[in-house]
Amino acid sequence: MIYADNAATTKMSQTAIEAMLPYMQDCYANPSSLYTAGQEARDAVEAARETVARCIGAEPREIIFTSGGSEADNQALLTAAAIGKKAGKRHIVSDAIEHHAVLHTLKKLEQDGFDVTYLPVDGSGIVKAEDVSAALRDDTCLVTIMYANNEIGTIQPIAEIGRLCRERGVLFHTDAVQAIGHLSIDVQDTQIDMLSASAHKFRGPKGVGFLYVKKGIRPAVLIEGGAQERGRRAGTENVPGIVATAAALEEAVSAIATTAPAITAMRDRIIDGLSAIPHSALSGDRMCRLPGNIHLCFEGIEGEALLLLLDQKGIAASSGSACTSGSLDPSHVLLAIGRPHDVAHGSLRLTIDETLTEKEADCIVQAVKDTVSYLRGFSPIWRDLCEGKAAFIL
Ligand SMILES: *Cc1c(COP(=O)(O)O)cnc(C)c1O
Repeated sequence: MIYADNAATTKMSQTAIEAMLPYMQDCYANPSSLYTAGQEARDAVEAARETVARCIGAEPREIIFTSGGSEADNQALLTAAAIGKKAGKRHIVSDAIEHHAVLHTLKKLEQDGFDVTYLPVDGSGIVKAEDVSAALRDDTCLVTIMYANNEIGTIQPIAEIGRLCRERGVLFHTDAVQAIGHLSIDVQDTQIDMLSASAHKFRGPKGVGFLYVKKGIRPAVLIEGGAQERGRRAGTENVPGIVATAAALEEAVSAIATTAPAITAMRDRIIDGLSAIPHSALSGDRMCRLPGNIHLCFEGIEGEALLLLLDQKGIAASSGSACTSGSLDPSHVLLAIGRPHDVAHGSLRLTIDETLTEKEADCIVQAVKDTVSYLRGFSPIWRDLCEGKAAFIL
């Protein structure tokens, strides 16, 4: 199988697997237990916290381990909402292309009386810092803008947004799930107040992640029941998962300088190859883009059919278009960058990592080219376009 769906999840790194094994086999005690074995588990969790903090320029006490990116997003937004509510501030600024973990939490907050401004994005999916600035009000308690988009890979001007939020005294959260481990991130330089991350997007295990909360901000507690994570997130720590998260993150971050340019080159090779397909368009920004993200729309085809046929050829990709619930609604991200419904349905997302070889990249390009023309061969929409009964958009 050629795996090109790393935005959905990644293969665990061998380093991370080996790091977690001792905490399942030998050192399996509860970190809250007072005997030596428990204290060893506690030490491992605290060492992991230090490593994670160091990787993003934070302090260990600013890291809360969670069950993943979704929980971290929920906790960040509810933290800002609780602080805002106390101060009589009930306005939040976000954008149209956030992950559903953010969007659905915002919906809940709207039902609870919060007013949310969803900023538009430009044609390549970028949120303009000026728009953020203009949207801020006296009652704004939070700006939440993702670091990089999970579908089209666009990277946002986070440092600029961070600076203006700090100047205006508004909390700034970023969902960095797609960015962390792939881009160098420093929460000081970018003036981020809260940041969400998920281990399985950087070759760590599933079901574990973390939230960075700048010191001085009191996190809202979503899960009550114990004093773990200094009372900010109850539940017996996922010791093997936490240890592996730190190992995977440290490995990914220390390799960025070499892996990112290599992945970017391979990404561009695939983008160039696929852009030769007639009536296709790259989604997202060509430059401000995650190293491993390739996303295109092809006119006259169904993304789902393309995926199934690519799967038969041994290529694991994503359409990034229909939601995972199997609904036929096109992606909110593609609609937000101005793709019409029909075009949004013909999308393909390939997310690659450093293990992809040149040969595999070329194999992907050929397979997509062949499959797109095969599908167009019996698509009534394509026939209408070719016969001039409908107008080409791309
Ligand atoms: C995957 C993802 C999440 C959710 O992370 P989980 O650990 O799977 O809950 C949130 N935001 C973005 C941008 C993601 O890509």
